[in-house]
Amino acid sequence: IGRHPTPQAGPAPVSGVARILAIGSGKGGVGKSTLTSNLAVALARKGRRVGLLDADIYGPSQPRMLGLTGQRPTSDGQMIEPLHAHGVTVMSLGLMMKEGEAVVWRGPMLMGALQQMLNQVKWGELDVLLVDLPPGTGDVQLSLCQKAQVSGAIIVSTPQDVALIDARRAIDMFDKLKTPVLGLVENMSTYICPNCGHEAHLFGHGGVAAEAAALGLPFLGEIPLNLDLRLSGDAGTPIAAGDGPVAQSFARLAERLID
Ligand code: ADP
Repeated sequence: IGRHPTPQAGPAPVSGVARILAIGSGKGGVGKSTLTSNLAVALARKGRRVGLLDADIYGPSQPRMLGLTGQRPTSDGQMIEPLHAHGVTVMSLGLMMKEGEAVVWRGPMLMGALQQMLNQVKWGELDVLLVDLPPGTGDVQLSLCQKAQVSGAIIVSTPQDVALIDARRAIDMFDKLKTPVLGLVENMSTYICPNCGHEAHLFGHGGVAAEAAALGLPFLGEIPLNLDLRLSGDAGTPIAAGDGPVAQSFARLAERLID
């Protein structure tokens, strides 16, 4: 008797969600989560229905960045009710854990949690679901692109060579997973001294744009190194909710991503 191969479930859409965009980086600490929360808020302010899935399982920082620390999503035993912050529908594993608690899971448990956050959350009708990935090229990235129909990936990097080398690896991974890379964003590109207005390039400047050009990918924009951006993230009110120059950088980035 011949063996029938087990049918492999291919990437599936998430019910009600028009587009899934993955936000990735090669390195940690380059501002991927900061970019994701602010981009989500900027897109919501432009009238888009936006969800944010925090899949940075090892360091879920979205509850803090969006001011949701200590809140718990409710569940009817089947489906989880997501939370809402600054016009964005949010789900994060961090909302299920105490702040500072570690996730010590093997791959299959991570995959189960990711699947649950995709399919057992009442996302509702969304124009776009942003997925904040862990840094690097691991299980979560692989599972997401295999389980869900991801429309594209955005790569965040600082202009330093060390970050760019890892960003290249992340791009290569998305290529292998057949997920289109929509473009690169440079974070921490310039620092404007609040005292004298002098503009400094602490991590170099233009490295990400040059890398994008070399790879034939769009350069989507740059976000400055800015104290208020950090403070607002720590305080749970993304700077993109305001109207200053940094909020405008995020608004421009959002515009580039709107069809
Ligand atoms: P990642 O998600 O890549 O690990 P985070 O978004 O958590 O990075 O950012 C790491 C730290 O750097 C956070 O404290 C964040 O507030 C800060 N940060 C990120 N981008 C900027 C920026 N452009 N200016 C100032 N601080 C930033």
